[in-house]
Amino acid sequence: MIIVPEAAIAGLVTAADCYDAVEKVFASMAKRSAYNFPVIREAIGHADALYGFKSGFDRDSLTLGLKSGGFWPGNMARGLTNHQSTVFLFEADTGRCRAVVGGNLLTALRTAAASAISIQRLARKDARTIGMIGAGHQSAFQLRAALDQRPFEKVLGWNVDPSMLGRLEEVAAERGVAFEAVDLDRLGARSDVIVTITSSFAPILEAAQVRPGTHIACMGTDTKGKQEVEAALLGKASVFADEIAQSVSIGEAQHAVAAGLIDVGDIVEIGAVINGDHPGRTSAEEITIFDGTGVGLQDLAVASAAVSLALERGITVEVAF
Ligand code: NAD
Repeated sequence: MIIVPEAAIAGLVTAADCYDAVEKVFASMAKRSAYNFPVIREAIGHADALYGFKSGFDRDSLTLGLKSGGFWPGNMARGLTNHQSTVFLFEADTGRCRAVVGGNLLTALRTAAASAISIQRLARKDARTIGMIGAGHQSAFQLRAALDQRPFEKVLGWNVDPSMLGRLEEVAAERGVAFEAVDLDRLGARSDVIVTITSSFAPILEAAQVRPGTHIACMGTDTKGKQEVEAALLGKASVFADEIAQSVSIGEAQHAVAAGLIDVGDIVEIGAVINGDHPGRTSAEEITIFDGTGVGLQDLAVASAAVSLALERGITVEVAF
């Protein structure tokens, strides 16, 4: 069995590696070659922790496994990250444990890859201004990956607590792109692409604030009750998702479906666009939304890429198991 420790991931896996791995598995999902198993998430009644696992199997790449972990709110005080996760990969032919891979950085990278794929596939080619809603830990990863998808010239940022916007400004500066802190009216009126990455439980961005032709990647809503954009916005957009079942149960679409503004059948898997089975954006005026809820197969895909790279470079720790 191979171990790829958390500390090795940063030097091993790039955003581009994760983009490729996630794009392939989204394509497999849409072909029904890959599927996610039901997600387990439990409040364990200790340390206020939420613990669970996400798992699945991709028949195309024979990637089988699970990501185990969750949220420990007291970790920060111990000098640890609150979100903790580990990926376990198994041999599809035998069920033997193939690898244990640190999953913290990989989770951030695979989430950034998902919104980047949606921008590459669904945003207008002439998109030059990106609006970021949210400035927490994950926002920097989303912005970095997004900036690789179009020659963006301007980043507009909004956060409920504006003192956090320095994080986005730093990423923009790193890439030599201008940054401006704005209100939501200006963000909606000026952005060609918008990424939402907050833990909000009420709509932040209103339908009337978004102009025609915008692509919006809604990435923060990954739990029942969370919401970042007004449900009416989905009603006037073409809606795409990583996985439709999750989109309507824990994603942004949960609210629009419950309000009767869209039907489950209106949502298109991004994998169908990747496979060429759906045209994606069909006009410069269309508003496109990607509801990225985060699926276990993304975790397995990037962990598998990490194992391959570690083997290639001869830096794996091997354990008889
Ligand atoms: P974080 O705690 O570092 O940041 C949270 C962000 O949300 C901050 O910008 C904060 O100001 C903002 N926020 C909090 N409450 C808000 C409110 N009521 N209204 C508006 N903004 C509010 O978290 P993070 O690691 O950056 O993650 C952000 C979100 O992304 C979380 O909801 C997380 O669950 C989700 N997430 C989704 C995926 C996925 O695959 N879709 C993966 C990782 C994280």
